[in-house]
Amino acid sequence: MSEETSSSGRRMRPCPICSKLSTPDAYPFCSKRCADIDLHRWFNESYTVPVVETDDIEDPEDPK
Ligand SMILES: [Zn+2]
Repeated sequence: MSEETSSSGRRMRPCPICSKLSTPDAYPFCSKRCADIDLHRWFNESYTVPVVETDDIEDPEDPK
């Protein structure tokens, strides 16, 4: 893999995940890893389930 550091008109946005410079390979992210993270974030947000967490109650025997 060889990266060319040339500003050929296209704006390079910073990665929305880690604010590093994005790469054409994983635009607009810096890497596919961050793209993956963003995907998971988006996925989780759209599937937000209201979870009632009770810190005080800890049932060792949790009938599921
Ligand atoms: Zn990143």
